[in-house]
Amino acid sequence: CGIVGYVGPRQSQAILISGLSRLEYRGYDSAGIAVIDGEGGLGMRKRAGKLKVLRDDLATSPLADGTTGIGHTRWATHGGPTDGNAHPHLADDDKLAVIHNGIIENFSELKSELVAEGFTFLSETDTEVAAVLLGREYRRTGDLVTAFRSVVSRLEGAFTLLAMHEDQPGLVVGARRNSPLVIGLGEGENFLGSDVAAFVEHTRNALAIGQDQIVAITPAGVEVTDFGGNPVEVEPFEVTWDA
Ligand code: GLU
Repeated sequence: CGIVGYVGPRQSQAILISGLSRLEYRGYDSAGIAVIDGEGGLGMRKRAGKLKVLRDDLATSPLADGTTGIGHTRWATHGGPTDGNAHPHLADDDKLAVIHNGIIENFSELKSELVAEGFTFLSETDTEVAAVLLGREYRRTGDLVTAFRSVVSRLEGAFTLLAMHEDQPGLVVGARRNSPLVIGLGEGENFLGSDVAAFVEHTRNALAIGQDQIVAITPAGVEVTDFGGNPVEVEPFEVTWDA
C-alpha cells in the first residue's frame, strides 16, 4: 500500500525505512526492501507484520549497504499476508527486484504462459507474475527500461510498479496505471513515492506522473515516457504541507 524508491550517493536503507514509516498511515500487513550495493549485488529482506518486525530483523542481521533501493508496504489482495507473499519479489536469478501496489487483473493468464515455459513461482501474488515476466524480458533485451516497457504494456488492472536490476545499479524504473506515483527531485539524488510523504523529508520538489507513464530515475536525472517510449511533459509542483 506504500512505495518508495531511491537513487543517489547515500545509503538507501534508512531512507527507505523512514519513507515507509511515513506511509504507514495508509495501512498495510507486510513490509520489505531491496538494495543494490556498489559491487552490484542485490540484497533483499521482507517480513509479514509491522515495519518494526522488518526493522528488528535488519538490526539483527543487516543487509549489505546499497545506494539504490526500493521499499514496499503491502496490503494483501492475492495471497495471504506471509513473508513469502510480501514484496519485493525477485526474478532473473535474484538479480531483479519488483514491488507493486494494486491488482494485476490478467495475472492468471500471464502466469499460465510463464509456467508453460518452465518458470516457477514462490508466492501466490499477482505481483510475482510481473517480476518473472520482467526477468524474462530483461534476459531477452538486456535493458531494464526496454524490458519494463514491454511488460507494463501487457498488464491489465491497477498498478504502481517499481523495479531495479543489479546489473544496472543507479537506476530505478517505475510505472503507473490507475494507481499513484510521484517523483521527488533532489540534488544528485532522486526519489519515487506512492505519495509525497515517502520523500518529503528530503525534498519538496516533485513531479506528477500521468496515467500510463513510465519513469526512469538515476542520480543525474529523471526521464518520463508513455508506455510506447515517447517522451512526455511532466508537471512540477512544490510540496507545501508540513512534513
Ligand atoms: N496485489 C499485490 C499483492 O497482493 C499488491 C497489494 C498492494 O497494493 O500492496 O501482493
